[in-house]
Amino acid sequence: MNPEEFNYVLHCSACPYKRFSNGMDLDDLIQVKTVDLQKQIPRYDPLMKKTVVAPNKKRTKMFRCPKCGFTLKSFKINKETDEQTNRTD
Ligand SMILES: [Zn+2]
Repeated sequence: MNPEEFNYVLHCSACPYKRFSNGMDLDDLIQVKTVDLQKQIPRYDPLMKKTVVAPNKKRTKMFRCPKCGFTLKSFKINKETDEQTNRTD
């Protein structure tokens, strides 16, 4: 396969398992449910007289490692950096 098709890399947090993906070929992995992280507690705005809820921090998708069962963390591959350094790997 052409390595330029891959947009994501998955790293296991416990073992050396590593996998490249284009984001569409992950049907064989089990996805671990995650929730968005709360960045700030809801606070009361005295001028508007209502509660202001800050937007939550989005998390990347996490999967279960097929080798050891720990979680795979997914990272987006930054292709702009590769073009700047002219690296082909
Ligand atoms: Zn693993």
